Amino acid sequence: TFKAIRIDKADKGTVASLTQFDESEWMEGDVVVAVEWSTLNYKDGLALTGKGPVVRRFPMIAGIDFAGAVISSEHPKWKAGDKVIGTGWGMGETHLGAYAEKTRVKGDWLVRLPEGLSAREAMAIGTAGFTAMLSVLALERHGITPADGPAVVTGAAGGVGSVAVSLLAKAGYHVIASTGRVSESAYLKDLGAAEIINREELSGAGRPLGKERWAAGVDSVGSTTLANVLSMTKAHGAIAACGLAGGMDLPATVAPFILRGVCLLGIDSVMCPLPLRDVAWARLATTLDKAKLAEMTREITLDEVIGAGSDILAGKIRGRVVVKIV
Ligand code: NAP
Repeated sequence: TFKAIRIDKADKGTVASLTQFDESEWMEGDVVVAVEWSTLNYKDGLALTGKGPVVRRFPMIAGIDFAGAVISSEHPKWKAGDKVIGTGWGMGETHLGAYAEKTRVKGDWLVRLPEGLSAREAMAIGTAGFTAMLSVLALERHGITPADGPAVVTGAAGGVGSVAVSLLAKAGYHVIASTGRVSESAYLKDLGAAEIINREELSGAGRPLGKERWAAGVDSVGSTTLANVLSMTKAHGAIAACGLAGGMDLPATVAPFILRGVCLLGIDSVMCPLPLRDVAWARLATTLDKAKLAEMTREITLDEVIGAGSDILAGKIRGRVVVKIV
């Protein structure tokens, strides 16, 4: 047996507990990994608290991300000792996940830990940071450059937001960070934000077209915030939509699309294909400032994860959290 955070069905909703899990309950997979580090994402908060329909199989081991070393493998690409990263693919949702001393997964899901990145740093990045990188890559693919104008980041003090601010600043953008925690202004400026705006500026019902304020954006909030971000995007700019921390709806008009040629770029980290994963992790390893990553990261242990799950949904977590498994 091994230690894991298990989610079971309860009379009302679900219940999470730190307990022993038996290998005989493992799901299919051809690689067994010793999990060294995991992390806490918004989706982990939803799974741990049962506040969102994330877990679709019971019992479940929560946790969507891990980094560690291969213990044994029947997959041609992997052998014992290989350092790997696993994120998404339904781990912690439909397949037993990462908050465990070990896990059995499909070798096809794994990414090799890039040169120059430790397992702990990989989890300081985690799905949140990986998603921020996918967003920046999508903006690049669209042809947007810092010369086109500023970049806005919503939910800036959160996990996706903090990494996005740092990556966009490093790429040379004038970054406008939107946050509900203006008390975190110094933190955000340290990560590279040039301007801080209060998220209330973007959360009310807006006009179909507003003053053009930015050419690019990474939005982790959704709802009216994303609608307003779009309405204030410069002609031919683009916004990467990756989150729903403010709501799943999108009360927008088509005006920015048809009158300004603005594009909305969808970002999905869960089923992201392997070649793009490799590109994104390689870029993270070479471009993300390690000192800034350390500054945005706090460490907790496995027995603190359930409590931290409620905190992230309450918007109380700044930046990123890594979970030390052993
Ligand atoms: P997080 O650390 O909790 O960050 C979310 C941030 O959004 C908060 O820190 C807060 O930032 C802001 N926020 C929270 N509640 C809000 C509200 N009601 N209205 C406006 N802003 C609010 O979570 P995360 O792990 O970075 O994830 C961020 C979002 O991206 C989540 O919705 C998550 O599900 C999504 N996501 C999607 C993918 C994908 O594949 N598409 C991958 C990872 C994450 P401030 O305090 O700075 O305002």
